[in-house]
Amino acid sequence: IKPIHIIGGGMAGSEATWQAASAGVPVILHEMRGVKGTEAHQTDQLAELVCSNSFRSDDHTTNAVGVLHEEMRRAGGLIITTAADHQVPAGSALAVDREGFAEAITAKLEAHPLVTIVREEIAGIPPEDWDSVIIATGPLTSQALAEAIHAHTGEGDLAFFDAIAPIIYMDSVDMTKAWRQSRYDKPGPGGDTAAYINCAMDEAQYNAFLDALIAAPKTEFKDWEKDTPYFEGCLPIEVMAERGRETLRFGPMKPVGLTNPHDPTVKSHAVVQLRQDNALGTLWNMVGFQTKLKHGAQAEIFRMIPGLEKAEFARLGGIHRNTFLNSPKLLDEQLRMKSIPRLRFAGQVTGVEGYVESAAMGLLAGRFAAAERLGRTLPPPPPTTALGSLVLHITGGHLQGKQTFQPMNVNFGLFPDITDYSKVGPDGKRLRGKDKGRAKKMAQAVRALQDVDAWLAGEAELVPAE
Ligand code: FAD
Repeated sequence: IKPIHIIGGGMAGSEATWQAASAGVPVILHEMRGVKGTEAHQTDQLAELVCSNSFRSDDHTTNAVGVLHEEMRRAGGLIITTAADHQVPAGSALAVDREGFAEAITAKLEAHPLVTIVREEIAGIPPEDWDSVIIATGPLTSQALAEAIHAHTGEGDLAFFDAIAPIIYMDSVDMTKAWRQSRYDKPGPGGDTAAYINCAMDEAQYNAFLDALIAAPKTEFKDWEKDTPYFEGCLPIEVMAERGRETLRFGPMKPVGLTNPHDPTVKSHAVVQLRQDNALGTLWNMVGFQTKLKHGAQAEIFRMIPGLEKAEFARLGGIHRNTFLNSPKLLDEQLRMKSIPRLRFAGQVTGVEGYVESAAMGLLAGRFAAAERLGRTLPPPPPTTALGSLVLHITGGHLQGKQTFQPMNVNFGLFPDITDYSKVGPDGKRLRGKDKGRAKKMAQAVRALQDVDAWLAGEAELVPAE
């Protein structure tokens, strides 16, 4: 059997290598560390954790990343099972001894008879005789390869910076204060004149908000990030706030063209707008609110906005160096590049966010490539699973109209809604608020694990056992 070439031995590449080799397909893994470093990695070990040592919550009953852990465990994931062997105490989170973890991954892959590891940088689009390739070079993809991909995809389809505006769960917005309206009631493509959720502030609220923004702790750009000139177009809100007290009112918080139906006589001094972020309408992003405020400060300050006092965040804002594709345009549901189908992509470069999500996309890319090599087609996991919801996210299934694609962690907002769950508590009373939300998440988690089992059972008929 001809080998699959996997470029990048990080979270995604290591997992993809394991999955393909476990299916009986030889892999050549090309990892540049050892001959060339990145700005963040410290060692030559495969699957090095660049920052935190946590894989986040391991609770697969009410937490979406915990569900993803469990799905990967059931699929024999290298990253998740090795993490369990190197676990350190972290409450309900799964955290690891980073050195022991990376050493174990490296040793397992080095020992696998079907895996060859080559320490080299792949500096361009791989040669044509590599007929099956997985590119898993991560947020810090080397410059030469990034430039080659950029030249192929064209301007705008490979991002170098990730400017993230916070995303809020719709059901945590207080609609007795907020309201739906598009600016000047301008109809959108479907004729909708109420596409946005608006949260208005009076002058005192705006001034207090501005003071809090300016005083809040910020994360600094790393030295190597300062040299990448890609973010002038999307300034952090706190930088705008520092430029002048009116700057935000003439930018993302402009109050024009909107009337607060809760009190139509009062003119809003500033308005924060939320835009629908997924097709289901469960997630809404804060328009123009990319920020480098520390996460704790963000939640506190954004809850000062009328209507968002109890906001729950699916993702907080940030700006950092992150190389990622415009995957909804460029990739198919097998994670293949539509214009060069012998190339698959996996990991953070596809527009997922986080160690676990990156490894998850490696798990799928490895299995898709192995199935293809063995003459079979493996369908993607159903969208009701954590794995499937991520594939749908990166292939554009959650996008609406002209929204731009932004990387994301796994969260229940990406799962299809569920109505079939018990809305009554053990005391016989109707569940409300957080209790109801929890019951819904539990039902989504149960459905995800049932559906991933069915997908794996179907796959077993496609891929021969080891
Ligand atoms: P990586 O794990 O980075 O692996 C990519 C590999 O490709 C690297 O080993 C690299 O050396 C190699 N490579 C790159 N270019 C080439 C080339 N041309 N040829 C050969 N090899 C190449 N996520 C979290 O969940 N928690 C965190 O705390 C966290 N902190 C982060 C901090 C920083 C500074 C960055 C940049 C990201 C962070 N992330 C974090 C986000 C992300 O989840 C991780 O970066 C994750 O490691 C991504 O997995 P990956 O496999 O896609 O990429």
